[in-house]
Amino acid sequence: MSFKFHLPLLLLGFIFSLTYSQPLLGQIGPNLGQTDHWMKSAKAAIERSDYETANSIFRNLIDSGQPLPEEMPYLFAETLFQLKQYDNSANFLNKYLELTGFTGDYYKGAQELQQRLDGPLKEIKECQLCDRRGYRYKTCFTCEGKRQIEQDCNYCKAKGVVGCSRCNGSGMITKVNIFKIVEYFECERCAGKGRLTCPVCEGSLKEVSSCRTCSGSGKLSSEELCDHVAEEAHEHK
Ligand SMILES: [Zn+2]
Ligand SMILES: [Zn+2]
Ligand SMILES: [Zn+2]
Ligand SMILES: [Zn+2]
Repeated sequence: MSFKFHLPLLLLGFIFSLTYSQPLLGQIGPNLGQTDHWMKSAKAAIERSDYETANSIFRNLIDSGQPLPEEMPYLFAETLFQLKQYDNSANFLNKYLELTGFTGDYYKGAQELQQRLDGPLKEIKECQLCDRRGYRYKTCFTCEGKRQIEQDCNYCKAKGVVGCSRCNGSGMITKVNIFKIVEYFECERCAGKGRLTCPVCEGSLKEVSSCRTCSGSGKLSSEELCDHVAEEAHEHK
């Protein structure tokens, strides 16, 4: 424990952006007694297979903004693996290997964990029911999975009319005749009104288009870890 490091804030921000909204820059200053105490408690929790407790201790540690002991990413990766948060586990394991290379105290354990992660990570990759991080997709609540939905017309912003482009909305066209005199004509396109019925919704103010909540995919990520088994299969058990 002679070597301490700070995980780059950007990386942490990336990893924790989904679970954490608090800023990571907490109090600054040496508070190593607290860190040691937390690490001991986390290790004890892992020892008795209480991974939920270890998880919250590690998250407190990260939140504290204190320098993290170099073994922390490995122990956290192991904890996350046990909690089936495989994607996040892989992130911390890679961080550990990146920081310690072949010299880490847990090099062997880290290699083993890497192998244990292979299967679950492959399952996540092949599963259509979850996102890249292994979280179950939920049916989009806006379109109810239909991908398309009747929404306010985006083109006219639900006004039903758009400005006439030929006359720039003035209703009048100007021409300069051979005597260099400016003549005014009523715009033929909009019949002098300066506006046209919206070509997209034809004045109905509504359009059927890709659902904007789910970007037309019909599904949204959730907080629920995926077991890679389809709903129907669950019900018929
Ligand atoms: Zn949708
Ligand atoms: Zn016009
Ligand atoms: Zn419209
Ligand atoms: Zn899945």
